[in-house]
Amino acid sequence: MHVVVSGGAGFLGSHLCEALLSRGDRVTCVDNLSTGREENLATVIDHPRFAFVEADVTTWTPSAEHVDAVAHLASAASPPDYHRMPLETLLVGSRGTEVMLELAARDGARFIVASTSEVYGDPHVHPQREDYWGHVNPVGPRSVYDEAKRYAEAVTMAYGRSRGTDVGIVRIFNTYGPRMRAVDGRVVTSFIAQALNGDALTIYGDGSQTRSFCFVDDLVRGLVAMIDSRETGPVNIGNPAERTVASLAELVVALSGSRSEIEYHPLPTDDPTRRRPDIQLAHRELGWTPRVGILDGLKRTIEWFASRPEEVREAAEALRGGQPTGTAVPVTSLTASAGAPLDSSLEDLAGRLVAQPAA
Ligand code: UDP
Repeated sequence: MHVVVSGGAGFLGSHLCEALLSRGDRVTCVDNLSTGREENLATVIDHPRFAFVEADVTTWTPSAEHVDAVAHLASAASPPDYHRMPLETLLVGSRGTEVMLELAARDGARFIVASTSEVYGDPHVHPQREDYWGHVNPVGPRSVYDEAKRYAEAVTMAYGRSRGTDVGIVRIFNTYGPRMRAVDGRVVTSFIAQALNGDALTIYGDGSQTRSFCFVDDLVRGLVAMIDSRETGPVNIGNPAERTVASLAELVVALSGSRSEIEYHPLPTDDPTRRRPDIQLAHRELGWTPRVGILDGLKRTIEWFASRPEEVREAAEALRGGQPTGTAVPVTSLTASAGAPLDSSLEDLAGRLVAQPAA
């Protein structure tokens, strides 16, 4: 079948294009390269069933060629990126989603939208199940992303209800892996680049906030399953192993054999305090569960970054002080030694999950 992937030159999009091609689909990737990179398409660009269109989906006019499925992934996704491009982020989630929905509606195609755990905001319900409506600040700095995605979900549902479009919503939780940018600004990439450079790892707040990290291969399997199903969702896709940001820092330092220290910086406004997906729906309706553990996933990601020393070195300045823009931020407490490699085994560190609260 012919699948159009918006944001196909991005981190997740490029892995999705690869997965679809390898199972025999024809893929058209649309990307304006604002955060995506052409080099992410190196493995697919010469493929006879692959086409790349450099365009902004908010103004794109699709060709008349028939489409069987549309996967709308285009968006800035890391906090520094959407803070840098607030209006573009709102527009790609709103107008961009409408353009891609129109395309799907035109051809009677399956449509899936990449939504996000950010629709839950700083959640009052834990772990997050799809029927939780969230706790989002509509006017805070993260709102450009959160509300754009919430609108994307709303307009997707409206096309499903009023036009009969075969729609599906996937809520993606924190995902990591090869092809992220060293200067992306998200926690996994920042910690890995800092550890490889021997620079201090920048923990925001006291590091007790939690996230649940999913390896990209698992995530992409979930996206493909969603494309193939008729499930509307929303469906959470993420790894439910929840850990603190501080324990992630220890793990990255230990796995990369680094002697980096830890530095504490102010917590960004509205930074969610905890996040873990309930993935029962994905398991039941898509037969999906994650398979890659944190040790394996981080090792593969660290290896990938280690094979790009120039990019990692160049990121050092931007990541110093905890601000990917390079803006200095006052350090709120003294540096502390990570210490992890000396007194804990990797398995110990990886197993330090936040305990599941009693039901
Ligand atoms: N974070 C951090 N140091 C960094 C980057 C991020 O401590 O250098 C924290 C951030 O404040 C948040 C968590 O790590 O609590 C995950 O941040 P990320 O930007 O990766 O994604 P988010 O889940 O917040 O969208």
